[in-house]
Amino acid sequence: MNSKKKLIAGNWKMNGSLAANEALLRAIIAGLGDAVCDVAVAVPAPYLAQVQSLTSGSAVSVASQDVSQHEAGAFTGEVSAGMLKDFGVRYALVGHSERRQYHGETDVVVAEKAQRALAAGVTPIVCVGETLQEREAGQTEVVVKRQLAAVIHLNGHCISEVVVAYEPVWAIGTGRTASPEQAQAVHAVLRAQLAAASEHADRIRLLYGGSMNAANAAQLLAQPDIDGGLVGGASLKAPDFLQIIAAAR
Ligand code: PEP
Repeated sequence: MNSKKKLIAGNWKMNGSLAANEALLRAIIAGLGDAVCDVAVAVPAPYLAQVQSLTSGSAVSVASQDVSQHEAGAFTGEVSAGMLKDFGVRYALVGHSERRQYHGETDVVVAEKAQRALAAGVTPIVCVGETLQEREAGQTEVVVKRQLAAVIHLNGHCISEVVVAYEPVWAIGTGRTASPEQAQAVHAVLRAQLAAASEHADRIRLLYGGSMNAANAAQLLAQPDIDGGLVGGASLKAPDFLQIIAAAR
């Protein structure tokens, strides 16, 4: 059993508006009570300033959905880790499957992004996970280990500074969740890989993501190697997100 604080991070993806964000965050903050886990919301970049202001003084941390692998310069459309830091961003999603799939992000790019985030004092949440085809071909372990290996030895940083999210691609946005046993099995593989690389592996938070919701969160979060959740769709509804937070004891 581990005793570290769990982390529940919402991923709003490309959703929101000034009005909707305000209503959602006000409801989340009002309903948090004495939440015993860490809470974050990964928001679209244009709303960082708004969300920083709305969450100021609350227990909700701000996260970004991506970060550039470059430090600065002629990279039109990119947002640097330093800029995120300017807006009080605490965590940056890195290597989300939608970035890997639609933007061709390779393991090398993901590692560069994680490195940039750490250098700026932003904690990367590195996402790994297999596609349905890979699972059916018995490749789950090979794929997630390869993805994690890419970030395990970052220059000048210990892997214990990173959060890892296991997100089976077939479970993201599909309503098809990994069973607690399936998720735990992969988390145990990742934990063992981390343990082989760092004496601090037990400190690293391993989140599960993929159709986590108010009904299935408690069982998933009760698994010994699941230290929190990365929540997409359900993070856009305050009552659902709050129930997931309440399940993260
Ligand atoms: C995600 O976007 O990381 C995610 C897990 O989405 P959903 O919860 O909607 O499956």
